Amino acid sequence: MQNIYDLTLQELEQFCTPSYRAKQIYSWLYHHYIDDFDAMNNLSKDFRQTLKTTFQLQRPKIITTQHSKDGSKKYLFQTHDLHNFESVLLKMRESQNDETGKIIQEERWTLCVSSQIGCKVGCAFCLTAKSGFVRNLSAGEIVSQVVSVKKANQIPPQKRLNIVFMGMGEPLDNFDEVIKAIQILANKDGLSISPKRQTISTSGIAPKIKKLGELNLGVQLALSLHAVTDELRSKLIPMNKAYNIQEVISTLKKFPINSRKRLMFEYLMIAGVNDDIKSAQSLLKLLNGFKAKVNLILFNPYENSQFQRPSEKNVRSFQEFLMQKGLLCTIRESKGLDISAACGQLREQNL
Ligand code: SF4
Repeated sequence: MQNIYDLTLQELEQFCTPSYRAKQIYSWLYHHYIDDFDAMNNLSKDFRQTLKTTFQLQRPKIITTQHSKDGSKKYLFQTHDLHNFESVLLKMRESQNDETGKIIQEERWTLCVSSQIGCKVGCAFCLTAKSGFVRNLSAGEIVSQVVSVKKANQIPPQKRLNIVFMGMGEPLDNFDEVIKAIQILANKDGLSISPKRQTISTSGIAPKIKKLGELNLGVQLALSLHAVTDELRSKLIPMNKAYNIQEVISTLKKFPINSRKRLMFEYLMIAGVNDDIKSAQSLLKLLNGFKAKVNLILFNPYENSQFQRPSEKNVRSFQEFLMQKGLLCTIRESKGLDISAACGQLREQNL
């Protein structure tokens, strides 16, 4: 039986007579976060019965929740076929100007969702990669992460939430389901999360980046670059052997970007591997001509990891060098470090 969360509004409208019933159902699913068709009390009993015999109303279960000191929360989900995956709710502070021009600090939530159980890419620094690949998540399983986390935190429907596809998996390796999830998440009668508030982070599957660009959905793109030579990048991200740096960079040059946004390049800094000024110089050269933002991520060591966290001094020097040369560069706060919820630390584990 099909999961109702796998349906776009248009697909649901084709099933409903009159078609406006589909919007009522969407409201129950995405504004009221209901768990049962019987809760849809503005639909007739007969129609609810038809829904029950046609669809499942199924979200992966939250098995455990871990709370970080910084306010972030890590959720371990279990699917109907008993596989586990994780999502992380990150609490951020965003600076905004009010109508008088005064800077105000606003609390902002970002949900890092998983797109696969495990991952095929096999990055050398990533804990997810150690568990291998199990299967793709369906669009409904991706969307349900958002619904379940909003429900668990009583986040009202109108509250802004950003989505980053940076959890377990390579999103572009599960292309069709991720695209469908983006469209369901963006629907104005549902969760209404604009594509410009959704970011896909990819290890660099060039043909899929091209395909995503052609769809012109308005989503943000982040490339996990991490190295400026093919030799090192292939060691860190084996995908680089199939699509090398130049091929990925040429593809990105054609990717449509909102005029107010920048293309994001993630650079995982690893002590003694890529945290020197020579690498910063090569990075600057490589990104010449891009409206880019570099996000430095500090490697988070885990048990038996072969890499070390870089020193603060090296990270600051790297950032200062790029900023002085006019390249926007931020250091990503490692949210949820104390609960292994930081980047590259998600896995299919029972906590
Ligand atoms: S870093 Fe991302 S792409 Fe690489 S193995 Fe981990 S989950 Fe997959």
